[in-house]
Amino acid sequence: MPAPRRTHVTRSLRNLPSVDELLRTEVGRAINKAAGTRHATRQARAAVAALRKRISASKTEPSSKADLLFAAVEQMQTAWAAEGLSANQRVINATGVVVHTNLGRAPLSKTAVMALTQAAGYCSLEFDLASGERGRRGGRAEDLIKEITGSEDALIVNNCAAAAFFVLSVFAGGGEVVISRGELVEIGGDFRVPDVLTASGATLREVGTTNRTKLADYERAINRRSKVILRVHPSNYRIVGFTASPSLAELAELAHARGVMIFEDLGSGALIDLGLGEPTVGDSIKAGVDVVTFSGDKLLGGPQAGIIAGRKAFVAKLRRHPLYRALRADKLTSAVLEATLLSYRCGTAKADVPVARMLTPKRVQIRRRAKAMIAKIMTSEISHLRFEIANGISAAGGGAAPGVELETALVAITHSKRSAVKLEQALRMSDPPVIARIADGRVVIDLRTVMVSEEDELIAAIRLLD
Ligand SMILES: *Cc1c(COP(=O)(O)O)cnc(C)c1O
Repeated sequence: MPAPRRTHVTRSLRNLPSVDELLRTEVGRAINKAAGTRHATRQARAAVAALRKRISASKTEPSSKADLLFAAVEQMQTAWAAEGLSANQRVINATGVVVHTNLGRAPLSKTAVMALTQAAGYCSLEFDLASGERGRRGGRAEDLIKEITGSEDALIVNNCAAAAFFVLSVFAGGGEVVISRGELVEIGGDFRVPDVLTASGATLREVGTTNRTKLADYERAINRRSKVILRVHPSNYRIVGFTASPSLAELAELAHARGVMIFEDLGSGALIDLGLGEPTVGDSIKAGVDVVTFSGDKLLGGPQAGIIAGRKAFVAKLRRHPLYRALRADKLTSAVLEATLLSYRCGTAKADVPVARMLTPKRVQIRRRAKAMIAKIMTSEISHLRFEIANGISAAGGGAAPGVELETALVAITHSKRSAVKLEQALRMSDPPVIARIADGRVVIDLRTVMVSEEDELIAAIRLLD
């Protein structure tokens, strides 16, 4: 019977609070004070509109004035709380994925954070303090890259995708790029090697097969239109089994003999041996590449940046190119990168740079930390939670070292009344949010990626689950 329902709806709608009424509530006044009358009014209107919609669609009993006022205030409060969350909220990464792209990749070192704060105001970005004349942007960081990797020159742009695109546009545009079929890959996050090549104005010249490409395949493909031999590091995948590919040094020799450029997109870009079996940037330089590109915020453990290193003539041409002006990095990137690189030059990176530090511990060390944390949680009474230590695997992440298993010890948490899904959600909603994983129906915490300074906050968040 439609008639009574319509009266319910009309009566409820008549009971809706007014915008003024909402602005006079405690929540309304708080929003008004923090964000101004206009914003508070907008939120009050939105709350009333949402309730009106809900009433019109509902088939239930009419609601009282008090109920509707309560519901509207609740709506405003939720909306206001959501606004308080930044899009870059600090979180505790308990996933064990060290370079986690969704969580901001590399956490910065203490000295890098200090450099970031320093550079936030006026700074000597393009000013040489000794001479009082114009200086070179990113000059110190570029010099450090040369020193650490042995390259003749270096240049910094916004990310590695920009770096690879830049190099290919300048050196391969209008010509052919020779690349193995085994390297025509998608790195993730919309970076597909064939698409980048096309966008740069180069023509793709595929050689070999997915699993096997020989030096002779490259040799046969080189012709008058060839400009670049491209080697892409298999960042996030491995081709295993019956495989073959020439070494970088062999490719470099071939390229130089035939008068074409040899360019490697290394992606993850480790500067030192991190025990992952990943090649270092120095290895590529030694193998004879003309140019190598890599990320600043993957295994290097610094800011988002794309680093181009290689032979002087090539890098100089890039620095003078108009496209550089569109791709160059800002002062914050430059400052953070410089500070991070200083740790590498001092030989203290494995202690100072969080990414390098987190990749080092063995399972026994993480197990010891896990045990100590559980003991600490248990110092106050726990009724519903159960803890166990389980063996697991952490990941380097960021498309680095996909085949390497980083052994770890996980804290597995169960609750006598709440599901793993609910626990994971509650951790995610805590302050600061804790990002955990679910494995085998249990919430698991991997302390590999949790800073020691975050442990007390993590313990507090876990206790609240009880
Ligand atoms: C990650 C990666 C990129 C993209 O690097 P960003 O710094 O994220 O732009 C490009 N090439 C390779 C091989 C990569 O691994």
